[in-house]
Amino acid sequence: MSTICELHKQLTSKERSAVEITQAYLSSLQTLEPKLHSFISLTEDKALHQAQQIDAKIAAGEEIGLLAGIPIALKDNLCTQGIRTTCGSKVLGNFIPPYESTVTQRLADVGAVFVGKTNLDEFAMGSSTENSAYHVTANPWNLETVPGGSSGGSAAAVAAEQCVVALGSDTGGSIRQPASFCGVVGLKPTYGLVSRYGLVAYASSLDQIGPLSYSVKDAAILLQAIAGHDPHDSTSLKVKIPDYLKSLRPSLNRRNQRRIGVIQETFGSGLDPVVEAAVKQAIEQLQELGAEIRVISCPQFRYGLPTYYIIAPSEASSNLARYDGVKYGLRSDDADLMSMYVKTRAEGFGAEVKRRIMIGSYALSAGYYDAYYLKAQKVRTLIKEDFEKAFSQVDVLVCPTSPTTAFRVGEKVNDPLSMYLSDLMTIPVNLAGLPAMSIPCGFDEGGLPIGLQLIGNALREDLLFEVAYAYEQATSWHERKPSL
Ligand code: GLN
Repeated sequence: MSTICELHKQLTSKERSAVEITQAYLSSLQTLEPKLHSFISLTEDKALHQAQQIDAKIAAGEEIGLLAGIPIALKDNLCTQGIRTTCGSKVLGNFIPPYESTVTQRLADVGAVFVGKTNLDEFAMGSSTENSAYHVTANPWNLETVPGGSSGGSAAAVAAEQCVVALGSDTGGSIRQPASFCGVVGLKPTYGLVSRYGLVAYASSLDQIGPLSYSVKDAAILLQAIAGHDPHDSTSLKVKIPDYLKSLRPSLNRRNQRRIGVIQETFGSGLDPVVEAAVKQAIEQLQELGAEIRVISCPQFRYGLPTYYIIAPSEASSNLARYDGVKYGLRSDDADLMSMYVKTRAEGFGAEVKRRIMIGSYALSAGYYDAYYLKAQKVRTLIKEDFEKAFSQVDVLVCPTSPTTAFRVGEKVNDPLSMYLSDLMTIPVNLAGLPAMSIPCGFDEGGLPIGLQLIGNALREDLLFEVAYAYEQATSWHERKPSL
């Protein structure tokens, strides 16, 4: 696995050109694609063109940034001007955005090389990438298991070295859970830290874009490039972005001892014993590295899942109303306008998306609004208060990322409730708008990766990087590679 800094060194020392690096990644990408199906669209021409520009800069003696010439994959719900953006849906099957999302623009500006658009659950609704209208992505560690979701394509692509780093989006766990299933690093930033302009909306009060990478340092470099205020997104925060690389120190600062809270409620029933053992061992390791460990109770945590499944579908039912055959994408022909709407949506959306539109419309309808939507918003506040209390006592919280390791393809497709459970521990974080990260912390007996979740207070990504980096340096989980 090559990291951003290793490749940067090769580029600046002229050991390899950006075109050579890009060609090497594109070729391994294509070789593995028939097995993995991590991508919906490949953008080789664009990648090579971007790489040539970096080589020209190097040849002209210009300085290049860390991300210049680095092959990156983009989740296919990020609008890329002139490049098809499907969001994993048939309804956007022919959608070519007329504009660029802020995050992809920022990456293009620093010279990153776009190798392709990765597979996802339709409209980012799912936990396995099986809800994609295009194909199922395989987990590189075991091709019969799912890569997680909804950013499963991005996570699989990073784990299999089809790219160096990737972007995903996380509404309830969609960066962290696939990172955990694929044994890579995944970070969901604080709500508002990264602009959502050009991210196809699922649930706007929860969605955030973030990095997936092989190493903690790569995640920090990528976040540094995409974070920061954007006037195009009214929820974007006007804050100074710290230098995240400064947080990367080999051991936890003993002089300013970090207090790490273990969320007691996440160790209840339903947690796979192998996951539990690996996470507990990781906690011991953090203690050895100098952290003070405390047990923390978040009693409202368990209401996260039902709360999310009212709020997210409600917002989705409103956001997805725009796909009516008139403004975007698919238009099914029919004699009159009403039948055209109905047919477009019936043909364009998959079963899970329809289910959520119906749940959301129901929860928002007169007579039910108070009982469901309003109630859910109140519980959301209680969950946020749990975190506030916790962060008055500790610096970072830890728990498993997901209760299990990757499950088999098809195992949960007919049981949405059990599928939803895989986000039990990630969802409360989105409801509270906090940053959280999944890092590799072990493997089960079948060789499938296990993820440790670190949760920070708002805008404390620096502390997540500090703890994650110290742990990563002290362990070797990230050095294992899937044998493909
Ligand atoms: N799996 C969750 C869902 O299906 C979360 C998805 C996400 O974060 N985009 O909604």
